[in-house]
Amino acid sequence: MTDFDLHIHGKYSGGVSPKMEIPVIAEKAEKKGLDIVGTGDILNPKWLSHVKEETVQPDGYLERDEIKFLPTTELEDEDRIHHMIIFSDLETVEKAYQDFKEYSDDIRREGRARINVDGEKIVEIANNHGALIGPCHAFTPYTAIYGKKDSLKECYGDQVEKLDFLELGLSADSEMASRISDHEDLVFLSNSDAHSPWPHRLGREFNRAELSEESFEGLKKLFNGESGEIRLNAGLDPREGKYHCSACNSCHQKYSLEEAEKFNWSCQECSGTIKKGVKDRVNELADKKADYPVEYLHLPPLAKIIQYTVSHSSPTTKTVQEKWKAFNDEFGAEIDILVEENIDDLAEIDTEVAESIRKFREDEVVMIPGGGGNYGERILPESGKEASNIRSEKRDEIKCRYDE
Ligand SMILES: [Zn+2]
Ligand SMILES: [Zn+2]
Repeated sequence: MTDFDLHIHGKYSGGVSPKMEIPVIAEKAEKKGLDIVGTGDILNPKWLSHVKEETVQPDGYLERDEIKFLPTTELEDEDRIHHMIIFSDLETVEKAYQDFKEYSDDIRREGRARINVDGEKIVEIANNHGALIGPCHAFTPYTAIYGKKDSLKECYGDQVEKLDFLELGLSADSEMASRISDHEDLVFLSNSDAHSPWPHRLGREFNRAELSEESFEGLKKLFNGESGEIRLNAGLDPREGKYHCSACNSCHQKYSLEEAEKFNWSCQECSGTIKKGVKDRVNELADKKADYPVEYLHLPPLAKIIQYTVSHSSPTTKTVQEKWKAFNDEFGAEIDILVEENIDDLAEIDTEVAESIRKFREDEVVMIPGGGGNYGERILPESGKEASNIRSEKRDEIKCRYDE
């Protein structure tokens, strides 16, 4: 099995930690349990030379301390829609750079360059270089395809057939995305979009797949259905997001899509504006029932689970980090701790944290979804009975409704 995270940013991108350097990323990726990491920002000349200096290239792929890196980048098109490209090797990157450079004013300095053409043209250029491509964080309201367009075709035109994957992003999971029939032939990816190497950032969303080989070719075969199989998408619960439900921007009262339309997007409690949530954006676009054969595990990073368990305000407090280290020292890779280690064994390090991990794995956590700019609220109930009590008490809030 191969665990991978293909979307990160390097230290030269805006708002990114100076610690996002290949040696640090490799060290943290190993602790996380990732086998393959995307380099991110590979069209940026400074980042490209950093990647060249800090990796070895035994068989075309890039390697640093047992971690394989694939050359990847995120690009922004003229409509401010983000796309992700995976290149086969650094030679191809340099050739593609020459093509993209013609349409960009900032490719020399930006990590995520702005290319002044539409999505269709970007796919065409990527394809000319044999690269793999798909939309990034597809449901993000502002810089993503469904924030701007109503279908893949509207963005990619005749190149739509050439798409390889769809990145779900933090605001959606595979259940939501599989309600759109355009997505039927695409592999869904859950990547972190990490801006720092902390274990609650790098790999906070990840993919697990059986690949014919751990390489660009292996991924390519996975995407075109030739060989390999995606086994798991893991990431945050989209209901945690600030704009999951449609809700009032001022008082956060939630509304169903039908209610919001009936009230003309005006709040009945305070006359504020109702902001359309990602859930209802999907409801608008959906043309079928959810069905995606791959499991999606709603699983926060271990440091966050420890933080919730000890009720701290941040995953970087000393207590949280010490407990994280104790688990890491004993069991190694974080992904294995989260996904498969025996709960009784984990309990030998910390009973309460082990119990929290079990609740997340078995979906015993009650989520009160976010909306109108308010984050969702997560409740770890003591028992199944308490969980069902909370669920019936907060029924309307959980279902994002104003009233019947
Ligand atoms: Zn983006
Ligand atoms: Zn209101």
